[in-house]
Amino acid sequence: APQVVTLGETMAVLRASGPLRMGTDLQLSVAGAESNVAIGLTRLGHRVRWIGRVGADELGTLVLRTLRAESVDVTGARTDHDGPTGLLLSEPRIADLTRIQYYRAGSAGSRLCPHDVPASMLCDARVLHVTGITCALGPQPLDAVRAAVHTARAAGILVSLDVNHRPRLWSASEAAEVLRPLARDADLVIASDDELALVADPSARTTTDRVQSLLSSGHTREVAVKLGGDGAELHTPQGRERTPARRVTVRDSVGAGDAFTAGLLSGLLDGLGPHDRLERANTLGAFAVGSVGDWQGLPERHELTLLDREDGATLR
Ligand code: ATP
Repeated sequence: APQVVTLGETMAVLRASGPLRMGTDLQLSVAGAESNVAIGLTRLGHRVRWIGRVGADELGTLVLRTLRAESVDVTGARTDHDGPTGLLLSEPRIADLTRIQYYRAGSAGSRLCPHDVPASMLCDARVLHVTGITCALGPQPLDAVRAAVHTARAAGILVSLDVNHRPRLWSASEAAEVLRPLARDADLVIASDDELALVADPSARTTTDRVQSLLSSGHTREVAVKLGGDGAELHTPQGRERTPARRVTVRDSVGAGDAFTAGLLSGLLDGLGPHDRLERANTLGAFAVGSVGDWQGLPERHELTLLDREDGATLR
C-alpha cells in the first residue's frame, strides 16, 4: 500500500532553450506540482500513489509512462476521453527568470471529480498531500480535494496542504475563501511567506501572527514557511525551527517548492525531528534549483549528502 497519496493535474511540458518567438528548440517532458512531490518521494524510496486524469492522447501516455518509470503508483489514474492532456510552455526569459504559459482550460486533468478519489484509494496511507492548484481548477476538482481530505481525516491519515497560489487560475480573495477553511483541516500547512496571508486569520499582520493563527485553530499542528534563497521555517507546537538554504548555484528555480515539500514529507515518514525534517526539505529544494527541470534532478537517497561535497568536486 502507498504511504502517501496525492491528487492533481499533471501536464506535458515543452521547455524552450531560448525565446519562443524565435522558434527555438523545445524539449518535451511532464510536470505537475503533486506529481513532482510524488517523484521527489519515490526517488527517496517511499511508496506514493498519484491520482489524476490524463487525456486519451500521446501526451497522456507520456505522463503515465513517466510516472510509472519513477515508481509512482498510477492505479488511481484515469484516461478521460472528453478533454486533452494539459500542456505548458516554459521559456527562459533572462537568467533565473522563467516565463510559463498554460494550455489547460478544458483539460482532462481539470475534469477530476470526487468519484476519482474513493476511500479505498487512500486505504492504509499515512499522508494525503493536496495543493491549492487542484482546488483552483474548478468546482469538481475542488470537491475531489475536499472529499479526499474528509476521507483522510476520518481515517486518521495526516493531511498536508501546500497553498501553492496560482494567480492565473484565481484571485487572491477567491483562493482565500476556499483555502482558509481547507487549511484548518490540514495537519501540515506549507506556504511561502506571501501565501500565508491567504490561509491565516485576516486580522493577523506578521508572519508570526499568521502562523500562530493557524496553529491555534482547527487541526493544524505544523506550518512550514518557504523563504526561497533564505531557506525555510518550520513552526510546531514545540516552537520555531529555522534553517538557511543550502548554498548552490541556481540553474532553474522552478520546482523548488515541490521538492521542498517532498523532503519535508520524507522526513516525516522517516520519523525525523523538526530540525532534520527542515534540513531534508532544504536539501531537496537546493537539488531542484541546482538542476534543470522541475523534478529530473531530484536525488536518490544515497545522493542526499552530495551537497556536502566541496564545490567543483568530481564523483569518481
Ligand atoms: P516554486 O513555486 O518556484 O516551486 P516556491 O516559492 O514554492 O518555489 P521557494 O521558497 O522559492 O518555493 O523555494 C523552496 C525551497 O527551495 C526554499 O525554502 C529553499 O529550501 C530551496 N531554495 C529555493 N531557492 C533556493 C536557492 N537559491 N538556493 C538554495 N535553495 C533554495
